[in-house]
Amino acid sequence: MELLDSAIVGLNNLAVKTRRTNVKAGELLLLFSSCLQNSQCEQRINNDLTRCRRCGKCPVKGLLDMADELGVKAAMATGGHLALEKVKNPSIKAVVAVACEKELREGLLGCFPKPVYAVPISKPNGPCHDTCIDLEAVRRALDWLLRSQLGRQGVA
Ligand code: SF4
Repeated sequence: MELLDSAIVGLNNLAVKTRRTNVKAGELLLLFSSCLQNSQCEQRINNDLTRCRRCGKCPVKGLLDMADELGVKAAMATGGHLALEKVKNPSIKAVVAVACEKELREGLLGCFPKPVYAVPISKPNGPCHDTCIDLEAVRRALDWLLRSQLGRQGVA
């Protein structure tokens, strides 16, 4: 099943790139899974990311710093239904979703036709626990969707 999830995520990302989504920074959502938060962290950031002290003990700091730098919105996905609500907000035109491949596959179908570029997390500590993400891969995904917009304006 993991291979199938991986194949679906790969095909989805190819389709998103082919569509050349027209999105500005404020319309782009960086949505990431709650399992990226350090399990020892006592900050309750689920519904308020400003509570993250950005101590650097988990990837949340890097993701929030990146969102601030690029001017994109950021949200933590705490469950399938809530994540879907955030994605379906009409002000959001495209999403970079950071989660495990199973969650991504399930979420991608629910978000269609909104373009969602998926970046899978790694699970060195087992499923749903202190997961990791390649921040450079997230950066490339955000940059790609934003450059796509610049390209349309002839700026890039
Ligand atoms: S960066 Fe630090 S404060 Fe923020 S969620 Fe991770 S461990 Fe908690």
